[in-house]
Amino acid sequence: MNNSTYTCLLLTLLLSGCAKPTEEDTRQFKGIDGSLEPYYKLFEERFNIKIRDVTAGLTDLPKGQAGICYNNMNGRNEIKIDKKYFDNASAAMREVFMFHELLHCTINANHNENKLDDGCPDSIMFPSNFGDPCFVQHYSHYIGEFRQGR
Ligand SMILES: [Zn+2]
Repeated sequence: MNNSTYTCLLLTLLLSGCAKPTEEDTRQFKGIDGSLEPYYKLFEERFNIKIRDVTAGLTDLPKGQAGICYNNMNGRNEIKIDKKYFDNASAAMREVFMFHELLHCTINANHNENKLDDGCPDSIMFPSNFGDPCFVQHYSHYIGEFRQGR
């Protein structure tokens, strides 16, 4: 190994050693869309769960998809809601899918496909979105499942 090769190698090692892995924020949205923000507040009140660094916005999602939580390894999660779906959803439906996605994005809640005796979903984590009348009828059941503390 001659001198210049050695220098080059050393430089390469130093450079790669010094370069900190940039934790680039690759999320689509910088903050929380104004139309989704009220659900953050409501979610924290209802479930007693603090939402940390979860951005959210309205966008175009593939057909049949109302919302999605992007669970990033670096903790910077993001909720994307289909704009068309949001615009046409009832108040109860909006609350259901926002709570559903926020539960994915905060406490990593998993889906639950069970149903109650009356045919309503057993959980707000039911994989497809719902609203009235089930949400209204079983409201305290749905909230109680994930509510932290007392
Ligand atoms: Zn889900």
